[in-house]
Amino acid sequence: MAEGLFKEGIAAARLSPEKYADNFSDLHPPLDHHEALVESDRCYFCYDAPCMQACPTSIDIPLFIRQISTGNPIGSAKTIFDQNILGGMCARVCPTETLCEEVCVREVAEGKPVQIGRLQRYATDVAMAQNKQFYERANNTGKKVAVVGAGPAGLAAAHRLARYGHEVTVLEAREKSGGLNEYGIAAYKSTDNFAQAEVDYVTAIGGISIVNGKALGRDYALSDLTASYDAVFLGLGLTGVNALRAEGEESDGVENAVEFIAELRQARDLSALEVGRRVVVIGGGMTAIDAAVQSKLLGAEEVTICYRRGKEHMNASEFEQDLATSKGVTIRHWMQPKMVVAENGRVAGIELEYTAMAGEKLAGTGKTLRLEADQVFKAIGQSFDPASLNGSGASIAMEAGRIKVDAEGRTSLPKVWAGGDCIFGGDDLTVSGVAQGRDAAESIHLALMGG
Ligand SMILES: Cc1cc2nc3c(=O)[nH]c(=O)nc-3n(C[C@H](O)[C@H](O)[C@H](O)COP(=O)(O)OP(=O)(O)OC[C@H]3O[C@@H](n4cnc5c(N)ncnc54)[C@H](O)[C@@H]3O)c2cc1C
Ligand code: SF4
Repeated sequence: MAEGLFKEGIAAARLSPEKYADNFSDLHPPLDHHEALVESDRCYFCYDAPCMQACPTSIDIPLFIRQISTGNPIGSAKTIFDQNILGGMCARVCPTETLCEEVCVREVAEGKPVQIGRLQRYATDVAMAQNKQFYERANNTGKKVAVVGAGPAGLAAAHRLARYGHEVTVLEAREKSGGLNEYGIAAYKSTDNFAQAEVDYVTAIGGISIVNGKALGRDYALSDLTASYDAVFLGLGLTGVNALRAEGEESDGVENAVEFIAELRQARDLSALEVGRRVVVIGGGMTAIDAAVQSKLLGAEEVTICYRRGKEHMNASEFEQDLATSKGVTIRHWMQPKMVVAENGRVAGIELEYTAMAGEKLAGTGKTLRLEADQVFKAIGQSFDPASLNGSGASIAMEAGRIKVDAEGRTSLPKVWAGGDCIFGGDDLTVSGVAQGRDAAESIHLALMGG
C-alpha cells in the first residue's frame, strides 16, 4: 500500500518513521567548509553593495563573505552578529530571494545569486557551535528595562540593552521563549531545536532574565511596568486570527493554521499528529504555504491552497510557492470561501466562489465550486489583539489596528517603545522584527542615558 494514501478522514501515523524523518529534515542542508569557500569566491565584493542595502538589518554582506573566503568564519560571524544577533535564525528563514539575493549583481547578471543566506548560516553555525561570545556587557547602568515578548523583536532588544549595561527582564506569556521562531517557523527551516539554542546563545551575554508564563493584561498591566521599570519594550507579535467569514466556519475540522503549525513544532512524535486525507488551506501568505506543505509532509493525500487573488498578489514569495508545488500542493487562485460543507458537525468540504476584479475592487462572480475536504485551515492573516494593553491606564495610540510608533520605535506613551509584528508599518518578517527591536533598544539607551 502506498504510504499516506488510504486512511480516510483525519488520521495520525500515515507514514513510516523514516518517511517522517526524511520529510522534516533540513530544507537547505548546511554548506560544508569547502562548499562555503567555493560559494564565497563567487562574490564580487561590490562597492555600495545592493545586497547590503536590501538587508533590513544592514549586515555588511560583502565583508562577511570576504571573511569566509579568507578562512575567517569566526570574524565573519561577528560581522553578522554586530547587526543581527539572531543572524543564525535569519539565515534559515529569511526570504532571501526577495531581499539580499534578489538584488545580488550575480542574480541580475546571470540569474544565479551568491547564496548569501547559506553563507550566513555557515559562519553563524561555526561560531555558535563553539559558543563564541563576542560581546561583553558595559558596566551596570542601574537602569531596568522590561521587555514584553521573547520573540525575535524582544530578544534583539534585550541583547542590545544588556550590552549597554542595563538590567533586562523579559516577560513572556508562553512556556518557551523564541516567539514564532519556536512556535511558527516551518519545522524543516528550523531543525534540531535551533530556536532554543539561539535563545540560550543570545541570553548568554548576561543581564537578561526571562520569566515565562507571565502575560501582559492577565498577570500585570502596562502601568505596573511603567511604574517599576525605567523603560518598557513591547514585542507582542500578533495573537489574533482573522475569520473566514464563511457559513459553517465553526465546524469540527476547520482549524487555525498557526495553531496547527505550533502543535507540529512542539510535537515530540510527528506520527501522533493527525492530518486530513484531503486538506484545503485558505490564504496566500507564508502561513498558508507552511500549513499546506507540512500537511503534505505529514502524509495528506491532496492539499489545495485557495487564494482569492492571482499568483502575483500572493504574499508568499515565488520561491515559497514553488516549494509548495514541488511537494505536491495545488495552488488555486481567484476563489474565496463561501460555505463550509459539514456533515454531522464535521467538515466534509468547502464551497468556494470564483472572484474577479470589478474595477479596482475584488468581487465574487456568483459562480461556485465545491472541493471535498476533511480538514480546512484558516491562514488569512493574523491581527494584533489589543486586549493585553487594556487596563494600562492611558491608552496607547494605534494605527490600522497595530501599535503606532515613530521612527525610533517610541509609542504614544512615555517610557514605552514597541517593535516587530505588533507595530504598524512593518513587513512581518523575522529579520524586520530583529531590526526594530535592536533600533528601539538604541533609542531606549539614548533616552535612559539622557541623550
Ligand atoms: C506560520 C508562520 C510562518 C512564518 N514564517 C516566516 C519565515 O519563514 N520567514 C520570516 O522571515 N518570517 C516568517 N514569519 C513571520 C515571523 O515569524 C514574524 O514576523 C516574527 O516572528 C515577528 O517577531 P515578533 O517578535 O514581533 O513576534 P513573535 O515572534 O510573534 O513573538 C511575540 C512574543 O510575544 C509573546 N506575547 C504575546 N502576547 C503577550 C502578552 N500579552 N504578554 C507576554 N508575552 C506576550 C508571544 O508569546 C511571543 O513569544 C512567519 C509567521 C508565521 C505565523
Ligand atoms: S551583490 Fe552579490 S556579488 Fe555583490 S557583494 Fe552582494 S553578494 Fe557579493
